[in-house]
Amino acid sequence: MSIQTNLTKILDEIPQHVKLVAVSKTKPPSDIMEAYNTGHRYFGENKVQDLTAKQAVLPTDIQWHFIGHLQTNKVKFIAPFISLIESVDSLKLLKEINKQALKNDRTIDCLLQFHIAKEYEKFGLDMAEAISLLESNDYAEMQNIRINGLMGMATFTDDMEVVSREFKVLKSYFSRIKTEYFPDQESFAEISMGMSGDYQPAIHEGSTMVRIGSLIFGERKKSD
Ligand SMILES: *Cc1c(COP(=O)(O)O)cnc(C)c1O
Repeated sequence: MSIQTNLTKILDEIPQHVKLVAVSKTKPPSDIMEAYNTGHRYFGENKVQDLTAKQAVLPTDIQWHFIGHLQTNKVKFIAPFISLIESVDSLKLLKEINKQALKNDRTIDCLLQFHIAKEYEKFGLDMAEAISLLESNDYAEMQNIRINGLMGMATFTDDMEVVSREFKVLKSYFSRIKTEYFPDQESFAEISMGMSGDYQPAIHEGSTMVRIGSLIFGERKKSD
């Protein structure tokens, strides 16, 4: 199957209000161009070096999403162009994003990443950490970031009951944070959940954004 066929098939299958981020990590620019040529513009990368290398050679109207663990000392490399940072998992990181956004005279859209999986090694905030971030003076003073919702990764398992339960938890966090902290911010609307193996239950549980890699571009060699 070609990249174009795979992409079109998924776009036909998911509801229109659900955004598709084509996760192109480890894949070459030529693969991204195949998807781009169907009209697709949303792509996700999880490593700063790979992202900047690809961004430099690909069309400027691509909307790049950063979906991996982001080190504060690397924010400056993506701040000029990044469309959405989906993986904000600390106040320290958000402060640095705000600082670099200011330097670039722009606002950077972000999602708060939550830890909802059983796997210990996955990154993300818990509810208490998110609340302390949102109630901090530092956050109150940030002028150059905008939080548009939450992101989370479910446990890597075939057990869709486990996965659905975790997505439900993320959805409930979203509702609570929306009500308590963003009732008047229309742009706080995104729940980014669902990948190749679990996007269907994710959409069922209320996902507004799915991040799909291997189903579009084929299996990756490493499991990252
Ligand atoms: C790799 C990755 C994806 C896509 O994974 P697939 O299983 O290939 O669809 C989605 N989200 C994040 C955060 C990832 O790192």
